[in-house]
Amino acid sequence: MNSYPGNLFVVAAPSGAGKSSLVKALMELDSRVQPSVSHTTRRPRGQEKHGREYFFVSEAEFDELVQAQAFIEWAHVHGRRYGTSRKAIEDRMNQGADVILEIDFQGALQIRQVFSNAVLIFILPPSWEELRSRLDNRGEDSPEVIDLRLKNAAEEMSHAPEFDYVIINELFERALFDLKAVVHAQRLKFAAQRRARADVFDALHITT
Ligand code: 5GP
Repeated sequence: MNSYPGNLFVVAAPSGAGKSSLVKALMELDSRVQPSVSHTTRRPRGQEKHGREYFFVSEAEFDELVQAQAFIEWAHVHGRRYGTSRKAIEDRMNQGADVILEIDFQGALQIRQVFSNAVLIFILPPSWEELRSRLDNRGEDSPEVIDLRLKNAAEEMSHAPEFDYVIINELFERALFDLKAVVHAQRLKFAAQRRARADVFDALHITT
């Protein structure tokens, strides 16, 4: 697993912390960072398209994928199931891309079991009040769903200490800068440079 040329970033956050917007902005700025499209049993919201935000599947289809071991991790989140495709990640990383996963804490911790080099990043909102107001203003979910998401936020955030990095999304531009800094620092780690720029190391006879 450690011989993949690309890096693997895993981003978790309570819903409403701004994770998707941050990851989207990062990918627009940095084409080397690519997403992995998850499968979910929840219904599409708003403008979401099958194959773009998620592969939207039935409970039975999800069961089949679990049976076929198609997921590198999967979890129940907000009463629905979500899973990361093993093949999608491995194909992209083999091509040298840096893959970014937007998944919940359970999935993030499972990923770390498989890819010990994965970089786990947790995004926090600046306060409870701000989290609630962002969820209300999003206008995408019913009040019942928002209540469930807030209840789950406490559980999600209690796992922040298990992550490598924490970004507080108070000002979007500042949080994006922080996320770019984490990605950049990871690329400069010895092992990552050694994998990505083997030509330079070989030419310089650095053999480790
Ligand atoms: P949403 O329904 O708002 O798109 O996502 C709900 C939660 O599910 C978010 O915390 C999101 O990160 C998480 N999630 C999305 N895809 C996956 C996945 O493939 N695996 C896991 N474990 N969680 C996921």
